[in-house]
Order: sequence, then C-alpha cells, then structure tokens
Amino acid sequence: IMADPILEVRDLTVSYGRVEAVRNVSFSVEEGSLVTLVGANGAGKSSIINAVSGILRPRSGKINFAGRDITRTPAHRLVGSGLVQVPEGRQILATLTVEENLRLGGWHRGRTTAASIGEMYGRFPVLAERRSLPAGTLSGGEQQMLTIARALVARPKLLLMDEPSMGLAPKIVDEVFDVIHEIRASGTTVLLVEQNARRALRAADHGYVLASGEIVAEGPAVELLADDAIVQAYLGIE
Ligand code: ATP
Repeated sequence: IMADPILEVRDLTVSYGRVEAVRNVSFSVEEGSLVTLVGANGAGKSSIINAVSGILRPRSGKINFAGRDITRTPAHRLVGSGLVQVPEGRQILATLTVEENLRLGGWHRGRTTAASIGEMYGRFPVLAERRSLPAGTLSGGEQQMLTIARALVARPKLLLMDEPSMGLAPKIVDEVFDVIHEIRASGTTVLLVEQNARRALRAADHGYVLASGEIVAEGPAVELLADDAIVQAYLGIE
C-alpha cells in the first residue's frame, strides 16, 4: 500500500509568453523520499520547481501539497505550510552576517528559530565559526551550505533544491551531496533538480528525466541508472 504523496503535480504547463518551457508534466513525491528531476540545461527543471514553490504561475495544471491545492498559492504563503525552496545560485544576503541570514530562514516562526539555528551550527561547523561575518565573505561552497541551512531553519516538510551543485568545485559538490544524503536520512522529503543527473539519481529514490519540457523517462533511480538507453540518450558520459 502506497502512502498518499506529499506532492502531486498533474499536467503542469509553464510558459513565458509564447515559449512553452514545460508541457503537461505530471509527477509525485512520496513522503520521506528523495525524488529528482534531471535533464539538460533548458529542459525546464527550474520552471517546474519555481511553479511548485509558487514563484511562477503555471499556465495550466494542478499542484497539490499535503492534501491542499496550492496551484495558485504564492511562495511566501507556502513557506509556513512547510514547502521551502533552496534557490538556484546561492542567493544569500551578502552584507548581512551568516547568523542574520539563518534567522531570515525562520522569520515566519518567530522565537522558535534559535534552536534550529543551533542545530544548523552543529551540522555545519564552518557556519558556526563564521556566524558574525558578512555572508559575502564566505567561499562559494560555504555560501551554498548557508542557503541550504537557511532553508532547513524553516523546518520544511518538503525541501525543494534547485541545482545545489551548480558551479562548485568537485570536492564541494561531494560535500553538498553528503548534506543531501543527511537531509534525506533525517526524514525530510526532498525534490532535487539537477543537471548532474548521475549524482542526483545515486542520491534519489525515484527519478524523472526531462527533455525539452517533457518527461521522457521515469522510475526508481537505480533502474534509470541501469538502463543503457536512458544513460546514453540523457545522462551522457561521466
Ligand atoms: P537550467 O539548468 O539552465 O536552469 P532548466 O532545465 O532549469 O535549465 P528552465 O530554466 O526551466 O530550464 O528553462 C526552460 C526553457 O524556458 C528554456 O528554453 C528557457 O530558455 C526558457 N525560459 C526560462 N526562463 C525564461 C524567461 N524568464 N523568459 C523566457 N524564457 C525562459
């Protein structure tokens, strides 16, 4: 017996003027699982995740989160209900301190954030060391850890991650994937969007492969990785 999915997306279409970036995409995310959407640059991954998080309004389709229709709910109202996005491109506030950035992650929860900020310092010691420094002084990898930690301070039921490994050195990419594994192990449901398809599928329970705005393959992540035709057509050489 399958549990109800925490996220269900049906026939989602996203367009920018006349450009249809996403066409009739359907997928779901079971509670406690890590699901990844993989695909090349421009495949429509960011458009999907931004529609789910309420940053973009879909042209058509339906998005259900935790039993509620959130198709037209704006992002700022979703954070409080547990749907939290780690944005693409390390959007920290450079002139604020590391700690101030973390506090922003919990603005909707008021005083209860102190404990989760402490928890983040335990999980990311480098952020504890630099807590009083402007976030702009952190390295790229540290800034990525900060955006992830800031999202976790909001105590997400579903964490949306948009290309967390983008533009990072290989060693830092390893660290980011370690953190993703830990987040999943701690029971947080994750929807991960990645160009780095193999890495994402190795971390995931279930995967969807996107090409030109459509889902061209889906299945348990291990099966997608073992399918030579899919690997050759969409995952490229390592
Ligand atoms: P990337 O890895 O580059 O973020 P992606 O898979 O996330 O790629 P999207 O960013 O969702 O893909 O883009 C899908 C399509 O929509 C692309 O053809 C892109 O050029 C187009 N697109 C994205 N944003 C806009 C926009 N603001 N205006 C017009 N077209 C857009």
